[in-house]
Amino acid sequence: KSGFVTIIGRPNVGKSTLMNQVIGEKIAIMSDKPQTTRNKIQSVYTENDFQIVFIDTPGIHKPKHKLGEYMVRAAKETLGEVDAILFVVDDSPTIGPGDAFIMEVLKDINTPVILVINKIDKMDQDKFNALYALYKEKEMFSDIVGISALEGANLQVLIDKVVDFL
Ligand code: GDP
Ligand code: MG
Repeated sequence: KSGFVTIIGRPNVGKSTLMNQVIGEKIAIMSDKPQTTRNKIQSVYTENDFQIVFIDTPGIHKPKHKLGEYMVRAAKETLGEVDAILFVVDDSPTIGPGDAFIMEVLKDINTPVILVINKIDKMDQDKFNALYALYKEKEMFSDIVGISALEGANLQVLIDKVVDFL
């Protein structure tokens, strides 16, 4: 099994931390070579029986100018081509404009989206349950999983869910 996955989310939710934790010492490739003009392979996670290729999807934020509009279009194309999208949010109790914009973009795309609620180390169970319910009611995520990228909590659960979509 192998497939392409992209990690999206607004700044500071923990995308880079998640990427580094998942890849850890299992880095097979860390390539700067563009896969296409717009998709950059960031890293490849390899287990015995599967491989997950993480690719970068820049430009998912509300465009302020024409170039920004072009970038959002390019980002949408990338999102449509991967096998799964990890949409990362953090412990913010409400869906802010940055997250709302990304969710609007995701509505136009058929790729399965796993909602990753990061920073569970900063939440009690009630807060996590409230966030889970908030996103669940949107009815647009294939799965919802809570993790702590920083502490490495629940990452195997997340990887298992990703592998289901490869
Ligand atoms: P990015 O902008 O989405 O790539 O976010 P970063 O990975 O750079 O993380 C932004 C900040 O959040 C950093 O200070 C991280 O240490 C912190 N952070 C990331 N993941 C977690 C987590 O699971 N728990 C906590 N408490 N902090 C985290
Ligand atoms: Mg980052």
